[in-house]
Amino acid sequence: MKKKPFVTLEQVKEMVKKYPTPFHIYDEKGIRENARRLKEAFSWNPGFHEYFAVKATPNPYLMKILKEEGIGADCSSYTELLLAEKVGLHGQNIMFSSNVTPAKDFELAAKLDAIINFDDITHIDFYEKIAPFKEVMCCRFNPGGKFQIHNTIMDSPQDAKYGMTRPQLTQAFLKLKEKGVKQIGIHSFLASNTVTNEYYPTLARLLFQVAAELQKETGVKIPFINLSGGVGVAYRPEQEPNDIFAIGEGVKKAYQEVLVPAGMGDVAIFTELGRFMLAPYGHLIAQAIHEKHTYKEYIGLDACAANLMRPAMYGAYHEITVLGKEEELCSQVYDITGGLCENNDKFAVDRKLPKIEIGDYICIHDTGAHGFSMGYNYNGKLRSAELLLCEDGSVKQIRRAETAEDYFATLDFDALEEK
Ligand SMILES: *Cc1c(COP(=O)(O)O)cnc(C)c1O
Repeated sequence: MKKKPFVTLEQVKEMVKKYPTPFHIYDEKGIRENARRLKEAFSWNPGFHEYFAVKATPNPYLMKILKEEGIGADCSSYTELLLAEKVGLHGQNIMFSSNVTPAKDFELAAKLDAIINFDDITHIDFYEKIAPFKEVMCCRFNPGGKFQIHNTIMDSPQDAKYGMTRPQLTQAFLKLKEKGVKQIGIHSFLASNTVTNEYYPTLARLLFQVAAELQKETGVKIPFINLSGGVGVAYRPEQEPNDIFAIGEGVKKAYQEVLVPAGMGDVAIFTELGRFMLAPYGHLIAQAIHEKHTYKEYIGLDACAANLMRPAMYGAYHEITVLGKEEELCSQVYDITGGLCENNDKFAVDRKLPKIEIGDYICIHDTGAHGFSMGYNYNGKLRSAELLLCEDGSVKQIRRAETAEDYFATLDFDALEEK
């Protein structure tokens, strides 16, 4: 099935009068509806809480929309914590799931009273020198081995730098208990961008079993289980998207089969979704500025990998729509490129598309998460603006485009002139 952009050519033509391409635009209505579906799918669990993974799209306007939907923030760095603070989040509405954590990050997380998720057992001693332990803390688990669903290997936790081993988890619980921590949650992230309704249920069952063991072994109360991120989106039009209601039901089944019989029917389910919350509700809008006919057919855009790194970095697929030509036959085969001096700066390779004219507006789909946020300044390219298509149809700029002055802001040219 073809993907339909949430903006039309007419709308984009209006936008570019004020905000030149390229820009990322987000769909407020889609974001809110999806957030409500997630909450409904887990409404069987009274303590359910989603912490939006800020790294996916660190824009305070979007975080505020999510906050209005009852969603908190999952932060992993100092500046992400500052962002959460700026949108008015604090305490139990912030999860701090970091790794290789600098002291000042722990210090700020403690000051904001965030739930601190220890990535490693050695972080407990490290943290103790910085801030007092809280009543409620969290530990990140890495089960090692390969993570399989049925017979398909989803990922290889044994090669991942995150989390503690199973024996370390018990030690960490006992150690934190000794330091006065009353309740400890557990967290794990085993596979990224999963497009199967069984990822969360499989992970949940594993964590529920571990939680039941840990509570027995250590006597520590486990208030929540954090399933983290990893629920993916269908980037390819032929993929079957995840059904969040089936996912919620699958987790519920594991909960009733494992936690309830263990006398742990009061445990809250937490999630830290990034991609699932926002990816489909963002587009990168760019303009075709060059065409080139050599050994292949190229269309060059005014956007490049600095605006969306996923294709260059992972060979990721992003659907492309030529705005205004939605119904036209895909009669051409193009490489759609940016202008970086890197040959992997291609949004698409050998993509079948309608005939593109210079000046056409191009919509790159599913850029709402891990899109703008992975941007960079290579080749002196500047970060784009971010716009919001509000529920009432109006368009608001929620981050201006960078200028050359921003790019040079960390340099002192006056000192260069002195000798
Ligand atoms: C990246 C990340 C997430 C979000 O992952 P998505 O795949 O975007 O859902 C959640 N938690 C942690 C700790 C992460 O590093």
